Amino acid sequence: MPTTIKERVVIASASGAWLTTEDGHRLLDLPAGLWYANIGHGRERIAQAAAKQMTTLETYHLFGIHANRPAIDLAERLRGLVPVADASFILTSGGSDSVEVACKLARRYWQQVGRTRKTVVLSRTGGYHGLHGFGTSIAGLDFNRAGYGTESLIPETARIPLADLAATRTLIERIGPGNVAALVAEPVVGTGGVHPPPDGYLTGLQALCQEFDILLVADEVITGFGRTGEWFASHRWGIEPDLITMAKGITSGYAPLGAVAVSGRVSEPFMSGDDAPIFRQGITYSGHATACAVAMENLDVLEEEDLVARVRALEPVLATAFGSLAESPLVHEVRAIGLMAGVQLLPDVPADEVIRGCRERGVLTRLLAGNALHVCPPFVITPDEIRFAADVIAAALDAVAERTAA
Ligand code: PMP
Repeated sequence: MPTTIKERVVIASASGAWLTTEDGHRLLDLPAGLWYANIGHGRERIAQAAAKQMTTLETYHLFGIHANRPAIDLAERLRGLVPVADASFILTSGGSDSVEVACKLARRYWQQVGRTRKTVVLSRTGGYHGLHGFGTSIAGLDFNRAGYGTESLIPETARIPLADLAATRTLIERIGPGNVAALVAEPVVGTGGVHPPPDGYLTGLQALCQEFDILLVADEVITGFGRTGEWFASHRWGIEPDLITMAKGITSGYAPLGAVAVSGRVSEPFMSGDDAPIFRQGITYSGHATACAVAMENLDVLEEEDLVARVRALEPVLATAFGSLAESPLVHEVRAIGLMAGVQLLPDVPADEVIRGCRERGVLTRLLAGNALHVCPPFVITPDEIRFAADVIAAALDAVAERTAA
């Protein structure tokens, strides 16, 4: 007899790629929480690193001349990992914070260098950038932008198409490149349904930004720290953004933390001597010492266990296993890249029923925009577990197909 699972899924504990609910069901964590549990759940050494830091110094803020050692060490280490020229870092408490900071800094930069009309922030249709003021305003998912009385909370924004360089050029020319501050793009659109970039798209976007002197912000909140098989998706697709936003995988979810990598070009006006202007940005928990110690330990795990290479090795396993789901009459298409995929169901397929069917068979997934199932497992998942997850989704789809045909 199939087990009935209550509608509210309360997760009580977790280990590796597996979750256990409060009522004792084991579920494979296909979305890795919300795209964050990259090194897997239940790592004792991360808890120990946090305890060690907390009992030494829980945190000390970074305002004015103050600092703490884990924050300094983390920034130094990130500098060696990001494809950003002469990078410095602003540490935050998460992805929405990072987007907020990056957009403010982009606008502030142009004011500072005297190009005061450059205020518009562009973003991709289908993109998701968190839900703070700027993230809401540049949302490429219209429902996240709507309902605040104006087209956008912050008026100086516009959406480019998901992946059409010619139309993007036309739009920039219509707005006037002299009015555009920045273009924010997820290299792989995540929440919008997992859309990998077409060949040449990201380098083409970078070339447009260079031609029109627009700052390119890569939102790598999902793709950072190995998700596409390179440390950053910007490495994989050969771009060097002016700013990179990151969060999630920076701690694999063991503590709330985010960061913005800022290129030397953008930081320079604010760092040129004692009377340099201040970029007025600082939040209490920027560079929280315990969160930074957790991030350092998380990076140790990624390096010691060679987990980014593991993602590269698992990419074809995931693509094959989930690709075969496209044969289901309920599936529109499957898009996969690195260790992430979107299984897009036809618009009239009751996704809730499919998701419940997956849970009843031992796999947790959830819905992304466009009726797509969320696939983005922890890097420690095994090939057999990947195939198990795909088989479970196939069985859940078959059950729904049978019921709806009856
Ligand atoms: N940017 C991207 C690309 C994201 O996927 C997310 C979160 N899903 C955010 C920003 C916002 O991050 P947070 O929820 O940590 O604020």
